Amino acid sequence: MGAAYDGRHMASSRPVPKPVIDTNRCTGCGWCVPTCHLHLLSLERQGWEKFSVLSDMDACTGCKKCAVRCPFGAITMVAAAH
Ligand code: SF4
Ligand code: SF4
Repeated sequence: MGAAYDGRHMASSRPVPKPVIDTNRCTGCGWCVPTCHLHLLSLERQGWEKFSVLSDMDACTGCKKCAVRCPFGAITMVAAAH
């Protein structure tokens, strides 16, 4: 009967939530950068501040490691509409 229970984590038919970085919260501490095993995050200077930036949204697997690591709650996982 039910195999329903293990399909949820990797459901490919659903949009994968991707990290959205709130620059109002991001302090540029850089903690999230090494958590991404695909090296998709980097600190970029914007004016006199630094923020974390996701370089390749499509490559991101949505693993959430960066969001969990951020001590300032600056990274929110958001499912894109398409
Ligand atoms: S861990 Fe959070 S606050 Fe630090 S650079 Fe990354 S997004 Fe910004
Ligand atoms: S969700 Fe995972 S793959 Fe995507 S940027 Fe964060 S750590 Fe990298």
